[in-house]
Amino acid sequence: MVNTLDNANLDAPGPDAFQCGALITDKNRTIIYANAYFSEELNLQVASLLGTSSDDLFTVSSKIFIESYLMPLLLHEKKCDEIQLALIDGNHKRISIMVSAKMDDKGQIYWSLFSATKRDKLFAELLDTRKKLEAQAKILHSMSSTDELTGLMNRREINLRAPELINQAKRFTHTIALLMIDIDHFKEVNDTYGHLEGDRVLKEIGSRLKTFGRQTDLIARFGGEEFIMLLPDTDATDARLLAQRLHNLMSEIEVNNSPVTVSIGITMSDGSRNLEVLIKQADNALYNAKSNGRNRTEFAQ
Ligand code: GH3
Ligand code: MG
Ligand code: MG
Repeated sequence: MVNTLDNANLDAPGPDAFQCGALITDKNRTIIYANAYFSEELNLQVASLLGTSSDDLFTVSSKIFIESYLMPLLLHEKKCDEIQLALIDGNHKRISIMVSAKMDDKGQIYWSLFSATKRDKLFAELLDTRKKLEAQAKILHSMSSTDELTGLMNRREINLRAPELINQAKRFTHTIALLMIDIDHFKEVNDTYGHLEGDRVLKEIGSRLKTFGRQTDLIARFGGEEFIMLLPDTDATDARLLAQRLHNLMSEIEVNNSPVTVSIGITMSDGSRNLEVLIKQADNALYNAKSNGRNRTEFAQ
């Protein structure tokens, strides 16, 4: 065999200088060679390793893995690359190692063992960082999609989510209802009782609307004192009943012992019109509800 180190005419220190474990086992997996890495880095005396089974180096689970995966692979392919195993060092410490091995015609195996403890640590840190980033992304998403005062989704979020719901209506030939809800004479609440009282009313409306809807409904604060509900699989009769329940629910909230009232504009759709059009139609209906005396619901023409 050609010795490339001799060829290069180097004053080579030999395999003991490698910063990885080199091991040769015979066809019975008895160790016939181990380099100095075992004594220097793993506190396993080379002399006491010779003649023992290489299996004894490894943890129980690694032994099972060697038997069930690594050996069949070696017998079949004659080599295997970068298998992660664990061995027990001279201080009885579990060490993660990356193993590559090659088998020759006589069944001798040439093992290269690289420490993977740093890699393991890095991997654990990466997982930890990923978990933190995912948690932060969740918070950020919630912040960017939620209206701070009412806890409902904001306009941006309903704009993002409505198209899917509208498309579903089209695909499954359902009707959907869009409700525009606007508090009556809300400016007066602010002007008479102050902005904080106005905020309290908005918060109360938010918490009631949250428990009012079905899981599939989209309910958002659309702007100032306007709310929007997009209800899948809802026909006009359902929508009218629902609006009546909404009027009742809102009247539970009081300002200076008077019930809060809202006006509602409703438009129905089979999914053929986009959100913008639906909002315009519901807004017209809402305008009619205001003109017709407030505290009432009108449907779009
Ligand atoms: P209408 O019955 O015609 O809807 O009358 P309105 O007074 O409710 O409507 P208008 O548009 O004149 O006034 C809306 C008011 O809502 C004015 C604004 O100060 C108030 N508003 C909007 N956002 C907030 C908020 O976040 N907090 C409080 N407290 N008030 C708000
Ligand atoms: Mg308004
Ligand atoms: Mg209003």
